[in-house]
This record gives sequence, structure tokens and C-alpha cells, in this order.
Amino acid sequence: MTDLNISRSPEFLQERVSYLEESNQRFMLILEMLASSSEFQSDLSRAKDGEGIFKATALQLRRLFSFNAMGFFDSMPDGSFELLVADPAGSYGTLQTLVETRIMDGTFAWAINRNQAVLVPTDGGETLLLQVVATQSRVRGMFAGTLPGSSAAMDAASLNALSIVLYTCAYALESAVLYGMLRDHTQHLEERVQMRTRDLEVARRQAEAASQAKSDFLANMSHEIRTPMNGVLGMTELLLQGGLTPLKEKQFLHAIKDSADSLMLIINDILDFSKIEAGKFTLEHKPFNLRDMVARCLDGLAVKGEEKGLKVIHRIDPSVPAALVGDPGRLRQVLTNLVGNAIKFCREGEINVEICLFPQETDKVILHVSVTDTGIGIAEEALKRIFNQFEQADSSTTRKFGGTGLGLAICKKLVEMMDGKIWVESQLGVGSCFQFTARFLLGNEASRPADGEAPLVSSPAGQAPLDILLVEDVEINRLLVQAMLEPHGHRIISAEDGWKALEAYESKRFDIVLMDVQMPGMDGLQATRAIRKYEHTRGRSEPVPIVAMTAFAGNEDRQICLDAGMDDYLAKPITTAKLLQLLDKFCRRAEPVESAAGDIPVTSAPIALPNERDESVAVFAQDELLERLGGRSEMIPRFVGLFCKGFFPQLEGLVAALAAEDAVAVRLHAHAIKGAAANIAALRMQKAAAIIENAAKEGDLTEAPQRLVLLQLEYRAFTEAVCAMGLVAEA
Ligand code: ADP
Repeated sequence: MTDLNISRSPEFLQERVSYLEESNQRFMLILEMLASSSEFQSDLSRAKDGEGIFKATALQLRRLFSFNAMGFFDSMPDGSFELLVADPAGSYGTLQTLVETRIMDGTFAWAINRNQAVLVPTDGGETLLLQVVATQSRVRGMFAGTLPGSSAAMDAASLNALSIVLYTCAYALESAVLYGMLRDHTQHLEERVQMRTRDLEVARRQAEAASQAKSDFLANMSHEIRTPMNGVLGMTELLLQGGLTPLKEKQFLHAIKDSADSLMLIINDILDFSKIEAGKFTLEHKPFNLRDMVARCLDGLAVKGEEKGLKVIHRIDPSVPAALVGDPGRLRQVLTNLVGNAIKFCREGEINVEICLFPQETDKVILHVSVTDTGIGIAEEALKRIFNQFEQADSSTTRKFGGTGLGLAICKKLVEMMDGKIWVESQLGVGSCFQFTARFLLGNEASRPADGEAPLVSSPAGQAPLDILLVEDVEINRLLVQAMLEPHGHRIISAEDGWKALEAYESKRFDIVLMDVQMPGMDGLQATRAIRKYEHTRGRSEPVPIVAMTAFAGNEDRQICLDAGMDDYLAKPITTAKLLQLLDKFCRRAEPVESAAGDIPVTSAPIALPNERDESVAVFAQDELLERLGGRSEMIPRFVGLFCKGFFPQLEGLVAALAAEDAVAVRLHAHAIKGAAANIAALRMQKAAAIIENAAKEGDLTEAPQRLVLLQLEYRAFTEAVCAMGLVAEA
């Protein structure tokens, strides 16, 4: 112990004291720095970003260390480090160079993986201190500082103090990043909330508009239904009161039929639309002649146009092939709707229908159809809307012109099903041009339209009396069918449901069964199955033809009936013509055929003809008739014979009505001739009769005698044509 004291000289002790004083001072500084950490914390919390945090950290470090220069390298997402802040600013380049050298020699990477500072001498005689700035989970950057002297050493306490400060700095950086993310997220959230609010607002407005459109639709619909319904009820009441002349009765019945026809149109629209909506709508796929179809469709509409003084003109580009395969009925529906609208919304001028070809694929044909009118036009804002269901351009238009707002929505869906598009260009007060495209397959010119496509022709009389079992639960429908068939000599036995039908069938042989589908108790499908089973077990050699009569009018409904064992299908409303055609189809027990020969009573006087003779229309469109007859050319002579036979009484009636100057009777006879001529495809006669009918509708009989001559001449032309074609039955 004594030896130790002796060996310690005053110099040694002095040195020792100085060292302790220095350490003491150092500890004091560290304590001071730690004491000022609350200031540091508040500097950090004020800092908005990495740069601010580094600056606050540099300030704190200066309290303890005498760095010549300090810099913070920020850790980039790609793994590199970028000098963000240098203190003093002028030392940026020097620090950059110093650190780059250490990156090259691996010291930098070594420093990243150490928790402590790494001290290396620089070429300029200083010491470079590198210490990673990291939290427990992430490296946020690197601190670099230069100390005076090439071999500067730092005591452990100072190094710990440095670590504490940089650790705090790293957490402040992490908080700043999290805060930034939070702020971005909040901002994003706010934007999303605003966007969603806007979307909801739009959806709310759309829902309100849709609900308004539906209310308008219901109001229109009830108006559209009530008007013809009132007609039906009023006229029926008058008829029931009795005391009317036969002519008046006929007039009223025609009015009732017109009203019922327009009701049917509305109901068909609604049915079509709901079927499309339910995805139950399928297109047919069969050969047809485009030119014939368009001509037939537009001829009927042209008559409607003429009533308003409008011309309906159509042109089919010569490059468009006539023979196509697709759904002619639905194409006709779209065309009818667009031209019908054009006529409805036009006061004067003309309606032009153009059909041309879009660039064609090998076996496909894309038609481009445009319907241009000189009507009231459509406001810009309504152009897109009118293709939506229940939408109309404006409600005042609706009140004036009527309509339900379903037509264009149906057209759009149909056209889309035909791989096409529909659009409109329009100018208020100038007119509109509706256009659509539709895709078809190229047909074979020689191909005949499929059986059953054509509308049934009227009244094939000459059928021997038949025994008919009519199964129908609604009394009025039973009466209707009876009234239609009994005048033709047929005997009707009625059954109100499937059970009664089965009973009747077991007790007697029938030539045909007309079967309603929906009935209480045993329905039509069950009854058919039961009849087929009965036939099978009793070994009846010839199964009876069973034909469905139903208001369900789709292809699938037809298939369901056929699957149940029925032979055919008749969509309601049923007409006499359809029924007779059906009987003819299934029960051919024809009486001797009629002849078309006979003298033609042409008025002799060479009266100047009105210039209404339309040479461009065919006298007799044999193909059209053939199409209606499902290609059965052998039936033509008989139908021609029947037509000729039926023409004379109507012509006599027309002549008598003209003599009596009875415009109503003239109209009725001309109408009957027009209808019969249309059915037999005597197109020129049809047109001549239509002109008389339309004039008579206006009460104008002034030119009727000349027009009558024209009609007779067309009749003669027709009979000459059919004779020349050898289409007249032997007498
Ligand atoms: P509807 O005619 O039964 O109301 P649509 O769907 O066929 O229904 O037509 C919708 C609306 O489009 C019509 O109410 C009318 O406002 C407008 N529109 C359709 N065609 C024309 C046209 N050719 N000219 C002017 N407006 C038309």
C-alpha cells in the first residue's frame, strides 16, 4: 500500500486529476444534453418531415459533440442512401465524397449492421463517424459526422449518448412516416366518402327519375288502356241495347275490333318487354326473303301514313341480298315500331326507310337500316334516355301523341339480340333519323321460308263439317270459338276443364281437339297427356290432333305444348281465319274446289282513271302467298278460287253503297276487299281498295267511281296473271 503511494508522483496525480475533471465535464455535458431532451422532443414534434427531424437532431448533437460537419443520409425504397441534410450546408459535397468512399470500401455496409458508431480516419486528417439511424424494425438512414483529428476517440458515455439521440431520431422518423400514411389515408378516405356521397346522390336522383318515369308510365298506360277499353265497353253496351241497323251494328263491331287491336298491341309490348327482362326471349332462326318482308311490312304502314298525308318511301340497296336467315318477325317488329313512331310524330312530309349493307363477313350479313322523318324531332337531352324503358322525350308529347314508352326499349333489346346497335340523330322541329344494325346469316336464294312462318290466310272454306272438342274454361272464349266455327258447319262440343274433356273424348270420336292450356283442375297439358295415354292403352289407330290455344306466345311455350303431346299451337287472340286454316291443316276433308274462272264485271264506261295506278307494285306476289302457305303450292289454286268467289259479293256491295252514297258502307266493303287481297297477295288490288277505303273514311266519294274502275281493272289483271301462271283450279 505504501509502495503504491510512493510511486505516484505529483505529475502523475496532476494528470489523473485533469483526466477526472475532463470526464466530469463530459458527464456534465451529457447530463445537460439529456436534461434538454424535452426541448429536443418538442423540436422533433414540430418537424414536419425527415429533413426537419434531421435538423432538430443535428441541433441536439451540437450540444454535446464538436462535429466539423454533420449529415443525414435517408434510406430510399430501392435500398440506396441519399444525403438529405448537411450541417453546415457547405459541407454537403465533402460529406458526400467521404461517405461514397466508405460505401466503396464496405465500411458503410458494416456500419449499417452495427448498433454503435464506426470511426474511420479521413484523408484530410479528420475522423469520420458513421452511425446507423434505425428503430428496432427498420433502418431509416445513416448519420455521418466529421470530428477534428485523425484518430479521434470517443468515450463510451458519449457514444451511448449519441446512440440515444439517433435512436430517438429514428423513432421520430418512423412516426413521421406513419403519420404521413395516416394523413394520406384520411385524406383518401375523405375523398372516397365525398365520391361515395356524390355517387349516392346520383343514384338517388336516378331512382327518383326512374320512379317518376314509372309513375308516368302507369299514368300513360292506364290512359292508353282506358281509351280503347272505353270504346269496347261503350260500343258493346249500345249493341246490347239493340235496335240498330245491320250497318250500324257492323260499324260498331269494327270500332270494337279496332279498340281491341290497339289493346292487344299494348299487351304484346308489355309481354315482350317482361319476357326480354326475364331473359326468356329467344330469336328464331329461319330463312326469309328480306325484300318481300320489308315491302309487306311497309305497305301496311304506308296506308297508315297516307291517312295522315305522309309518304312512306323505302329503298333497299341492290347489294343487299334478299335471302337471309334470322328472325324476320323481330326485324319486322323493330321496323314497324320505328316507322310507326315516325308516322306518329310527323305532321307532314315523308318518311324514308333505307337499307344497306355493312362490311360483310363471309357468311354473315350486317344490315344497316335508317328511318328518317320530317317530324317534331327530339331534344338533345332526351336522345339517349328514350331508349330506356318507360321513357318518353317529354310528357306533353305523350299527352298529345299517346304511347307507353316501351317501344324503343324493346327495339333496343331486340337489336342487341341480333348483335346490332340502335341510335338516333335528331333536331327539334326538323326531324329524326333512327338507325340500327342487325346481323343475319346469308340464306340460299332457292330456300323456301320455313313451314309455319307466314301468317295464316283467311277463310279456307270448302272444308267438310268436323266434330270438334273445345276445351276452354272461360265461357266467353267458348262462345267466341263456337261463333267462329259453327257458321262453317262444324259441330262443337265444349268441355270446361281437362276432366270433362277426357270424359267427352272417351265417349265420342272427334276430328280435332282445341285445348286451352291454363285451366283450373286438370290443365290442358295434363289433359293432353291423359288423352294420349288413353289412345295408347285403347289402341286407337289414329291419334286425334290436339291444338293448344293459349295466350302464352313464346317459342318455349310452344315447345312445352308439343312435349305434352299436342300437335300445334295457336296464340290468342284467335281469329276465324287462323282457326279455319288450322282445321284445314289437320283435317283435310275438303269439298270440291272452286274455280277462279268466271266473267269479270268490269264497268264498261271508259272513265278517266285517276293516276293512282302503281305499276311498281306487283299484281300478284306469288312468292308471298307461297310463303304464307308454308311452301304448299298445291293450295294456291283453291285459295285463288275462294278469293275470286268472295270478291263478287263485296264488289256488288261496294257498287250498291256507292250508288247510295253511303261512305261508311263503301269503307267497309273496300276494307274487306283490301284485307282479302292482302291475304292472297294481290298487291295492286290491295292498294286500289285501300285508296277507296281511305277516301271513304274521310267521307270523300268524289273519285270513288273512277277508283272502282281501277279496282276492277286490277282484279282483271290479277285473274289474268293467275291464269297465265296456271294457278286456276279445274272447274
Ligand atoms: P311511345 O312512342 O310508345 O311513347 P317509344 O319507346 O316508341 O314509346 O318512344 C319513346 C319516346 O321517344 C316517344 O314518346 C317520343 O317522345 C320519342 N320518339 C320516338 N320516335 C320519335 C320520332 N320519330 N320523332 C320524335 N320523337 C320520337
